[in-house]
Amino acid sequence: MTEGPVVGPAKLSGNGCILRVEPRAEGWEIAFASEPRTSPQPLWFHLEAGDLAGAPVEFVWENPDICLGNPGELASLRPVLKSDHESWRRCDAVRLVEHEDGRKSLCFSHEGGANRVSAAFCFPYGPPHLEATLADTGDVWERCVIGVTTGGRPLPRLRLRGDHSESRAGLYLSARQHSGESPGSWVLDGILRFLADDSDEARQIGRLLDVWVCPFVDLDGVVEGNYGKDALPWDFNRAWEPMPMRSAVHAIMADLRRFRERTSSRLLVDLHGPGHSTPGVYVQLPRAERPELQMQGAQEFASDLADSFPELHAIACAHETNYASRWNKLATIASWAWDTLGETQAVSVETSYQRLVDEPLYPDDYRRIGRRVLRAAHAWLQRREEE
Ligand SMILES: [Zn+2]
Repeated sequence: MTEGPVVGPAKLSGNGCILRVEPRAEGWEIAFASEPRTSPQPLWFHLEAGDLAGAPVEFVWENPDICLGNPGELASLRPVLKSDHESWRRCDAVRLVEHEDGRKSLCFSHEGGANRVSAAFCFPYGPPHLEATLADTGDVWERCVIGVTTGGRPLPRLRLRGDHSESRAGLYLSARQHSGESPGSWVLDGILRFLADDSDEARQIGRLLDVWVCPFVDLDGVVEGNYGKDALPWDFNRAWEPMPMRSAVHAIMADLRRFRERTSSRLLVDLHGPGHSTPGVYVQLPRAERPELQMQGAQEFASDLADSFPELHAIACAHETNYASRWNKLATIASWAWDTLGETQAVSVETSYQRLVDEPLYPDDYRRIGRRVLRAAHAWLQRREEE
């Protein structure tokens, strides 16, 4: 091996500062760090190594201990790998290296046999993935543009095709207010695919609900590979001020007002990913400062979620929100929807980057989680319609 591999951030959702590319007795060592980009604290990475000529690679992630999540849980992380010939998969194992000065590195390997290998923190999901799903689901999802991002990209919104002559219960789904939180998109992908199914359950839910979807709130961040949590100049999920502080939020606020006018009862489900190692699926409850009725509605949704996930202890489906915030901690989509759209309930649903309980999650697992989140939303709205 005379010439080294070509290594850098991936073209789509790429992120990763390359620190070293060095030959090993067998193959290469590629050391990198997650780039914070617009966020104070990093996490997301997605890089590619080309011209490997079949050589094995050990990726050395050099800054996992300052990434968002519990640094005591680093050994439980399972980043994902993809080579020429395979789809994305979890690495089987990681090796945690504790340096003498206290820094920690996390190493994971690809066994070789490929010319190009990609590594990411979790399964990437961007506009091409959505296009593939929409191609698979025929004409079930109507698509329109509700705004243009700061970076000049059309901001899409989908709506489940159906008879809109009478208002029905409405479900508004959104993902990627924090652009690196790809589990939210895989969960949403499961919902998009499920509602296009020919099953009795899908048809029944489709008859009851008018479903609107904003798949990428921070579309620029998704495409560019930003992590996006607490993103400067203003976190997307703290930009829901009376005067919105992000152009996408401004556009979605207008869309939510249209949604309100066309629906009889409403639920917003905003899909996220938590800290790097947190397991499970759960609702991030409203803060204690928020109205009691909003808290009750969120707890009720958490209870529906717990019914849908019997393998999780019910208590684990609701997490209190009391962590520090860099922004106005009450300027979230949930506060705005409650205060501005006539006490419309919005819930933040967090899905692990890693696992529900034990087994590492794969895209199809996330899609199945999506169906179960949809069942919880359906149950919640069905009660509202019966009231
Ligand atoms: Zn988030």
